[in-house]
Amino acid sequence: ESKYSGKNKYLVCTDEMKHQVNEKIELTNDLHSALANNELLLMYQPQINVEKDSIYGFEALIRWQHPDRGLISPGVFIPLAEQSGLINSIGEWVLREACTQNARWIKEGYGEHIMAVNISVDQLKDDSFTDLVADILKTTHMTPKFLELEVTESVAIHEKDKVIERLADLRALGIAIAIDDFGTEYSSLSRLKKLPIDRLKLAMEFVRNIDKSEKDQALVKVIIELSRNMNLNLIAEGVETREELDYLLNNGCNEIQGYYYFKPMTVEAIESAMKEGDFSDTKI
Ligand code: C2E
Ligand code: MG
Ligand code: MG
Ligand code: MG
Repeated sequence: ESKYSGKNKYLVCTDEMKHQVNEKIELTNDLHSALANNELLLMYQPQINVEKDSIYGFEALIRWQHPDRGLISPGVFIPLAEQSGLINSIGEWVLREACTQNARWIKEGYGEHIMAVNISVDQLKDDSFTDLVADILKTTHMTPKFLELEVTESVAIHEKDKVIERLADLRALGIAIAIDDFGTEYSSLSRLKKLPIDRLKLAMEFVRNIDKSEKDQALVKVIIELSRNMNLNLIAEGVETREELDYLLNNGCNEIQGYYYFKPMTVEAIESAMKEGDFSDTKI
């Protein structure tokens, strides 16, 4: 019997499904006032160059301190922000906040680090985005070379040439572009060659099995080789264990981000770690 016959066709809507839809609607409603109510905050996760034995950057990762529900992760609310059109104003706030923080750290002598900021495709599609970034750099007194924008591989691979042109415009401001979650989207190599980018971020799913799966090892080796031949920096995301770290280091990937070293941290935690010298040698 064909499943398209129309017979026995019910639209099943369980209580669980209704609950989930209601949750989304409620959260999206609340998200509208989250910015104005100061409920959004950024955590910062150190990015390490193991070879140089130092932190070269921080990735800004957004959190939502919901008045009733507690801390909500971006995996939950960023998709809602994207679907509701709120992502542009939230994304602008993230950029301003991260740049302000980094400029302050540099000014106060905490060191010169790159600040990496995640960008949604909707932000890139906005014709005024390059001007916005230029304005934010200016008003926050951030030197462009200390800002890096992370876009997902799907953006860079599937979007139209206009988006690629925009990446080039952004890069012309003096900032860097990284491809997030690299390896998950079957990039075409000819497309990759055309991308105006500076760094690849090896997706965590490859890192996770790297000490067990020969197939993942083969893929990771190819990506390391690729980045080297294309003169791109490569950072591995989501490194949790010594075994994962060792495999990456032994194969020439020296930039590492992950719980093995540091989780995303508050401003206060980062500043006290810097003052204590925790970032210079102890963990590395
Ligand atoms: P992402 O950009 O790929 O960020 C990496 C995610 O992996 C972060 O999750 C980080 O906390 C987590 N992570 C880092 N090291 C480890 C590890 O060793 N093990 C494991 N299991 N996880 C690790 P988070 O903070 O929940 O963010 C999830 C995603 O939400 C991000 O993935 C990014 O796509 C998005 N996101 C976060 N902040 C923003 C933002 O400000 N704007 C936009 N548009 N998206 C954001
Ligand atoms: Mg990212
Ligand atoms: Mg990632
Ligand atoms: Mg991601």
